[in-house]
Amino acid sequence: MIDLSSHAMIFNRGYPRDYDGWAAMGLPGWSWKHCLPHFQKMETFAEPEAPWRGNAGPKKITRSAASFPLYEQFLRAGEQAGYSLTPDHNGQKQEGLHVAQAYIHNGLRQSASSAYLRPAMARPNLKVITHAQVMRVLLEGTTAVGVEVLVGGRKQRFHCGREVILAAGAFGSPQLLMLSGVGDPAQLREHGIGLRIASPHVGANLENHPGVNIQFETEVRHSMVSHSDMWGACVWRWNGLCFARGWVPPTSLKQALF
Ligand SMILES: Cc1cc2nc3c(=O)[nH]c(=O)nc-3n(C[C@H](O)[C@H](O)[C@H](O)COP(=O)(O)OP(=O)(O)OC[C@H]3O[C@@H](n4cnc5c(N)ncnc54)[C@H](O)[C@@H]3O)c2cc1C
Repeated sequence: MIDLSSHAMIFNRGYPRDYDGWAAMGLPGWSWKHCLPHFQKMETFAEPEAPWRGNAGPKKITRSAASFPLYEQFLRAGEQAGYSLTPDHNGQKQEGLHVAQAYIHNGLRQSASSAYLRPAMARPNLKVITHAQVMRVLLEGTTAVGVEVLVGGRKQRFHCGREVILAAGAFGSPQLLMLSGVGDPAQLREHGIGLRIASPHVGANLENHPGVNIQFETEVRHSMVSHSDMWGACVWRWNGLCFARGWVPPTSLKQALF
């Protein structure tokens, strides 16, 4: 499974009206007004301050260096086709053509683990257990009170002082809820899982964004793709070793249009 430590590093907050749509469906905590302060708190955006951006958060966001001539031509072609440029698609206006922003700092990936977890590792109230599989959430009535975990082949139970946060991803979180008896009664019955809380939407309504990559070869070396041959890979590695610009090529998405 891919996670925040291995995704493509592109930083898009999303469309404010989508958030307001979720709020209108009954999730007030997802309104744009409610989420914006959290986005701001999360980031340090490497550009002049703007009222909708953050400048003191643990995640460093930089704009992609769209330095190859083809990138500039993409923007100009988009303008000619009638689209406008948006200077910060994570700000006032998402719609339009933009130069991408990325979870990258000094050429290195900014994952949730490097930004939040690693700096907190020395805290006495934090214990990280790896190679562990959560089997289910323990419930007392309808309240989550802990988790059952398989560690080194042995089942262990951990009880919480205050709350259980379930963050096992788009597939893992609903699966764990269902294994814990929270889900569609008919589905749970089918799998022999005792019902604790009937909640028919758990595990339903997954929305994904399929992607189709189309690549064109150019005769001149005008884009990042044309530099991703053996020689290009050597240059990136050399940059990483000598100038701390990271071991891997920067994110492949340089520009986009919403
Ligand atoms: C190919 C690809 C490229 C992407 N690129 C981008 C991008 O450029 N920018 C962007 O913003 N997003 C991108 N995404 C989306 C992004 O990766 C996800 O939105 C994000 O990782 C979700 O974070 P999460 O913490 O909710 O879940 P995850 O990152 O999926 O983390 C869940 C973790 O829980 C673990 N887990 C699951 N079940 C259990 C269990 N029972 N016990 C113990 N552990 C468990 C999993 O192993 C995983 O490590 C990309 C996704 C893909 C697939």
